[in-house]
Order: sequence, then structure tokens, then C-alpha cells
Amino acid sequence: MKERLSTTVQQLKPSGIRRFFDLAASMDNVISLGVGEPDFVTSWAVREASILSLERGYTSYTANAGLLELRFEIMKYMKRNFNVSYDYKDDIIVTVGGSQALDITMRALINPEDEIIVVEPNFVSYSPLISLAGGVPVAIETTAETEFKLQPRQIEEVITSNTKALLLCSPNNPTGSSLSKEELQAIADIVIKHDLLVITDEIYAELTYDEEFTSIASLEGMKERTIIISGFSKGFAMTGWRLGYICAPTEIAKAMLKIHQYTMMCAPTMAQYGAIEALQNGQHDVEEMRKSYRRRRNYMVKSLNQIGLECHSPGGAFYVFPSVKKTGLSSEEFAEQLLLEERVAVVPGNVFGKGGEGHIRCSYASSMESLEESIKRISRFVENKL
Ligand code: PMP
Repeated sequence: MKERLSTTVQQLKPSGIRRFFDLAASMDNVISLGVGEPDFVTSWAVREASILSLERGYTSYTANAGLLELRFEIMKYMKRNFNVSYDYKDDIIVTVGGSQALDITMRALINPEDEIIVVEPNFVSYSPLISLAGGVPVAIETTAETEFKLQPRQIEEVITSNTKALLLCSPNNPTGSSLSKEELQAIADIVIKHDLLVITDEIYAELTYDEEFTSIASLEGMKERTIIISGFSKGFAMTGWRLGYICAPTEIAKAMLKIHQYTMMCAPTMAQYGAIEALQNGQHDVEEMRKSYRRRRNYMVKSLNQIGLECHSPGGAFYVFPSVKKTGLSSEEFAEQLLLEERVAVVPGNVFGKGGEGHIRCSYASSMESLEESIKRISRFVENKL
């Protein structure tokens, strides 16, 4: 029989996160620090705006690029919060989550064999999406010694004549590391010197705890070579709404819109109405969530270090990424045994690529009560292993 599946898809590995979720779901009394989503319900005002749009009968497609009113709000939001200016008619596309934004970015940019530099440990979708678009992911490894921050010289070490873009994610999933303006400037200098594009995943931009968030697109000479991926899932606690957006130079946005229009038509209409409300009036709610995450981050960093699982204090997102090396267990062994013996679900760091082995990802988007109980259990587990 003829081969039915594409070689690319056969070579893709299933996400390593799923296996742990499936195992955890089959057990009782599990505390999950495994999920990568907020523990808040979307604010009532946003839900109400969406309900109202349904009551008014706004149930048809929107423009391919998204409701003009929503793009207008995104434009204002980006200017106000991150000091980057985009034209709402030409440069912004509303997508089905940051996930689809990433997908159409790769498909719009990549020619066969083009290399995209990715900084690992990173979000599990990046390399598969690059491969699916026919490109080659080239990984740079970051480590705990530099708090998992990309060192600019590492970029030059992997640049070839096929390098097209650098994919950044700050604040980062899974490490929580957040790059400062100075650190981004040093990266921008190299990117400009080598005429690269930057794809910047800013889905956690609202969730920074020590320093103001800086978008690399706001640095001199960068806007014309930067594609911003963002969305409502994390900062606005709207994962299930499936809403994200892209801000890009006009020519690139136009190319992406072609793919978006043929594959997706538009993002869900009722979700777009909710998002307008989120951008217009949601700042207070975002700020409250941010403060709450910050308290929980501080608790987790302090507690894990006390147990002896060393971890840096991450500047953003809602993850801590402690080392489990002192237990002598691999990431997978630690995560599996912790789940079976103490019923705490975490994600083994190796699933996030180079630099992740020897670490686990713990999401602190969980109630303080659950976090305290999980720390008790992890502490007992680690004592038993030493
Ligand atoms: N980028 C990063 C770094 C993420 O962690 C996630 C979600 N886990 C996404 C993008 C995609 O988010 P969504 O599709 O819900 O917008």
C-alpha cells in the first residue's frame, strides 16, 4: 500500500506534556502544577460583552483580519502599553489564539530549508510548527547559570546563510525568564547586524513582576523586522476563547492574511466582542491577577529553594523551573515518581528541549492552598529520595 502520511508528520513527536496529563487524570486527589493556563475565570464584564453580542445576533463572520473595532483597540493597547505603533487596517490580524498566529507566521516566512533559531527550553509547539512549514529549527540552549536567558553571542554561533529569523519568548514558558530592555537591545544589535527577522512571542507580556515589559519591536530599527505574536489567553485569563493576534510589518501581515483567510476565515465572532471589552476596560482585572501571581511566585521560589530544589526567581509568566538534580533523578523519573508517590503533577523539563533536563516546570496558577499542600508533598518526596 502507498504511504499515506507525510514524512514530516510521521517524524513529529507527540507533545511530552500530554502523557503526564493523561496519567494524572486517571488518579484521585492529584494537585496539578502541570497546566499552562490561568486559574482565574475570565472577568464577568468580558463574558457579558460576549453574551450581549450573541443577544444582538452578531453571529456571522467578521472581516478576515478581525473586527475593525477590535484591531483599533489592539493598536491603541500596543501603543499605550508597549510603545509600538501599528496601523490597525494593515498591520494587525486577529487569530485563533497565539497558536494560530505562530502557525501562519511560520508558513508565511519559511522557504524549504530556511533555519529559524529557537531558544530552549521553550514552548513545545515552536519546533513542530517550524518543521510543518518546511523549515529547520536550530536550537540554542540556555541554562540555569544565566537564569535561562539567551546570551547574544550564542546567536552568532549558530547563524548560517540559511538563517531567516530568531524566535524569542519573553516572559518564557517554561522558565519564566524575562528579558530586560538592555538584554533585548544587545540581541537587537546582532539581529540588525545579520539582517534577521525576529518573531517575538509576547503572550505573557502582561505578566511581569519585577520590571516593566519591553517589546523588542519598540527598539530602534526593530519594528520593520519584527513580528509580534500575542493574545488574550494568559494576561486576560481567556484560554478557552481562542483569541490571539499578530502585529507585523504591512508586507508580512498581508502575506499572513492570505493564509489566514484560506485556512480560518476569521477568529470566532463572539470572542472578538469579548476581547474589545477586555482591552477597553480590563486593565484593573489584569493588574489584580498580576499581583496575585506575583505573591504566588514569591512563595514558590522561596519554598522550593528551602527544600533544596534550586530555582531562580523568574521575572514573568506563571512558571518556576527548579533543578531536581540533587535528587539524582532525571526530570522524567522525578515527575513520574512524584505523581505516583505524592500525587503532585509537574512537567518534566526535558520535554521543553535543550537545557530542560534536570529541571521540572511547576505552574503556580493554582490556589495558595494547593500550592502550600504541593510544597508539603514535594518536600516529603525530596527528603525520601536523598
Ligand atoms: N506561546 C506560549 C509561550 C504559550 O505558553 C502558549 C500557551 N501555552 C501559547 C503561545 C499559545 O497560546 P494560545 O493559543 O492559547 O493563545
